Amino acid sequence: MPAAIRHDFRSDTVTRPVPAMREAMQRAAVGDDVYGDDPSVNQLQNRLADMLGKEAAVFMPSGTQSNLIALMSHCERGDEYIVGQNAHCYRWEAGGAAVLGSIQPQPLAHEPDGTLRLADIETAVKPDDPHFARTRLLALENTIGGRVLSLAYVDAATALARRHGLACHLDGARAFNAAVSLDVPVETVARPFDTVSICLSKGLGAPVGSVLVGSAPLMAKARRLRKMLGGGMRQAGILAAAGLYALDHHIGRLAQDHANARALADGLSAFPGVSVTAPDTNIVFANVAADIALPLADHLARHGIAVSSAYGATQQRWVTHLDVDADAVRAALSVAGAFFAVSPPA
Ligand SMILES: *Cc1c(COP(=O)(O)O)cnc(C)c1O
Repeated sequence: MPAAIRHDFRSDTVTRPVPAMREAMQRAAVGDDVYGDDPSVNQLQNRLADMLGKEAAVFMPSGTQSNLIALMSHCERGDEYIVGQNAHCYRWEAGGAAVLGSIQPQPLAHEPDGTLRLADIETAVKPDDPHFARTRLLALENTIGGRVLSLAYVDAATALARRHGLACHLDGARAFNAAVSLDVPVETVARPFDTVSICLSKGLGAPVGSVLVGSAPLMAKARRLRKMLGGGMRQAGILAAAGLYALDHHIGRLAQDHANARALADGLSAFPGVSVTAPDTNIVFANVAADIALPLADHLARHGIAVSSAYGATQQRWVTHLDVDADAVRAALSVAGAFFAVSPPA
């Protein structure tokens, strides 16, 4: 039986609101946000629209809803979006764009760095012909699997999309991690896109919430779709206050998560049978030799170190965040080290 979790590296969604964030939530001025009356929600929306250099924003219950609403704002029934195979808004959102938006995905394979080849994007754009769905949108994700897309790549991909008349959406669940890693304002990461979805509930450490930003007309459309999908919340200022607190206090410290991820990657890659690519941000993927994968996963779980794993635990995902500090990284490496001391790979 797995022990109680001591250090939780499964995801940056597991963070608990810090006491000062809870106090900010407690004090939040609230109103009915479906009437547009919640001052804290309005403040959060204005703040993020400003930070990302867009006209308007809409507060959403989740990143999944924010992405879906972005896709539905850009695409009508029978339209198509071009997207990566591993992109959250294609692979990890229960097919919502197809099910709820009647939008056809055109998924493309990724390069190892998370990019989509420009030639593949170009080939995927359908000509205006009654045989084809209408290609309307390119959706990128930054960071993707913890990898940062370079500004030059994003400029090239979005310029290509625009030459073909496509709109551009960024799933920026972790756009602040990308901005911190690139050492640029988040506005620079957002600039090439019509819409950007930001998660407050990942590395920023808020308990709930995402924000979609874009032009005023697109956000007016998004607001109607949010009501349609059941995402209109009432005194949501309590949640928005957590987001405002996160924007004030939790952006700069993402650099610490990135440093912790590098230390974790260094430590893990020193173990026999484990290979790790150096992380760009806060997500470390470790490939583990098949003969030790399950025993190692079991050992970590029994010692209270929680990680995500896939493919028979031969791929582990470790995510650093607000609630796992440098000591937690050292503790996890020491637990893993004890496993290799007695059970090195064959
Ligand atoms: C977590 C995540 C989302 C969705 O956020 P939820 O709030 O969990 O619905 C979207 N995109 C990416 C890249 C994510 O990591």
